Amino acid sequence: MQLALIGNPVSHSKLPEIYQFLGQQVKKNVVVERVHTEEVHFYDEVNKYLKCETPKDGLVITVPFKEKAYEMCDVLTEHAAKAKSVNCLTLTDTGLICGDNTDGRGMVHDCQENIGYDFKNKTCLLLGAGGAAKGILSSLLHTSIEHVFICNRSTDRAKNLASSFSNQDKISIIEEAEAKKMHFDCIVNATSASLREDLPQGLPDRLKSDCLCYDVVYKAGDTVFSKWAKVKKASYVHSGVGMLVEQGKIFLEKLGLPEMESRSAIKELADRILVKKMNDTEFNEAMSHNMLCEGK
Ligand code: NDP
Repeated sequence: MQLALIGNPVSHSKLPEIYQFLGQQVKKNVVVERVHTEEVHFYDEVNKYLKCETPKDGLVITVPFKEKAYEMCDVLTEHAAKAKSVNCLTLTDTGLICGDNTDGRGMVHDCQENIGYDFKNKTCLLLGAGGAAKGILSSLLHTSIEHVFICNRSTDRAKNLASSFSNQDKISIIEEAEAKKMHFDCIVNATSASLREDLPQGLPDRLKSDCLCYDVVYKAGDTVFSKWAKVKKASYVHSGVGMLVEQGKIFLEKLGLPEMESRSAIKELADRILVKKMNDTEFNEAMSHNMLCEGK
């Protein structure tokens, strides 16, 4: 299977290696070409890779092009239409460009299936109101969650996000000072603050003892948010690597690969790769020896 990852930047992304590894679980060769492009060339690159003589089977779109990808689609899945943002593109049999958004489902699947977290009757503090937060809010509202409190650095953007959903009784916008005093069952940091070693606005002073703290950003070792959560003694602290793996599974299965097993093992594998800061050669060696599957 041939895919391309289009973004700016893309050289740092572990996505091609993770997708390759996922393919290996079902004995399929998945090759993801990294395509670094400038905004002015984005549409041309998408058309080139989807409509050329030997087209890719699908495209993965990353920052900062998810909104542009949304704008150029002929057909949208329900998830992409709600999120107004697209991270997976395919071409239909009739030549139409079809967009999907797997961000939210990736995060919710990771929590439910790998971490074993049940959102039923839970209250969630969602930090952030960008593209990732949109997808996550949409997917959280598909669970039996009780309420989602959104806090974002820019309150107007949070209001704008909330207004695009019909389940208004389940959503509230809160200010930083309010969030500080409240207690939540789970906190999802859907901001990019961790990339700059910043903590987002709106962190509560105290955590419930069984609180889940989830950072969509992933990196080798702890993010600044996961360090904070550990200091606050959160029971469950997770980064976005499982979200990335689960998104890969959703897209690859949609493209026809068989259902992939061992979700928790795959997540652990990716965690170890990030924690060990393997370079590409070490990564490939580890995969060829199947070290990670065997838990060595
Ligand atoms: P956007 O640029 O659309 O939104 C960024 C969000 O972060 C906004 O809410 C912004 O607030 C907030 N923010 C940025 N910097 C700070 C800061 N220093 N303090 C507080 N808030 C801040 O990005 P996306 O939503 O597309 O992506 C967010 C993050 O999610 C990225 O880091 C991305 O890498 C990660 N991601 C991870 C995925 C995974 O599979 N693990 C999948 C998708 C995304 P404001 O509105 O006020 O500017």
